[in-house]
Amino acid sequence: MLEIGLTGGIGSGKSTVAALLVERGAVLLDADAIVREVQQPDTPVFAAMVERWGDGIVAGDGTLDRQAVADRVFGDPDELKALNAIVHPAVGDEMTRRRAELAGTDATVVLDIPLLVESGHEGLGGIIVVDIDPEVAVERLVAHRGFAEQDARDRIARQAAREDRLARADVVVDNSGTLDDLEAEVERAWAWIDTLERPPLDREVTRIGSRAERPDA
Ligand code: ADP
Repeated sequence: MLEIGLTGGIGSGKSTVAALLVERGAVLLDADAIVREVQQPDTPVFAAMVERWGDGIVAGDGTLDRQAVADRVFGDPDELKALNAIVHPAVGDEMTRRRAELAGTDATVVLDIPLLVESGHEGLGGIIVVDIDPEVAVERLVAHRGFAEQDARDRIARQAAREDRLARADVVVDNSGTLDDLEAEVERAWAWIDTLERPPLDREVTRIGSRAERPDA
């Protein structure tokens, strides 16, 4: 398995890039999807969250009301820390379990981790950063994903600075153009992946993200 970290700010086009990499044969491990899985009703994480914040974080259909959680933790460092302490170990365990399953294969595994730069990433074969002007990210989040403008700005402000992410990149995928332009950028990134040396099949999977004091969940 060759592991590639994929990161980028919210609205950068990271999910779109991940899908284009999957089209080219990559196996995707999506940290946000795993966060949602470990927070399903009837999981220990769900129970711990309800214990801390009460039934007000449960929606009418019995699932987690993510906005209600966000309202309780963002802007309050202690609550955010509590949330991270509940969620991150479970996500890390699940991520490690899935990586271990793939470890003995020749898969190209793309780890889509929004806060990769913030949480640590030792041992990866390389890092792709999807880059975009934050103003364009705000526009796209508002136009295509239904965000209120201020919410988009607040979320971007809570993440790593654009420069910090770029400093960690082995390859930068520029998403300032059209979707066709993005496809060409991904093709270039895929060609770069092809040049990387593959680690031995018996290499051990080490946990990533253990430095986590992630500012978001
Ligand atoms: P992220 O996963 O980084 O938050 P997405 O991949 O969801 O970002 O992209 C944000 C929104 O912008 C999506 O609705 C996506 O379809 C759209 N989008 C992404 N890249 C482009 C582009 N080059 N031109 C126009 N819209 C784009």
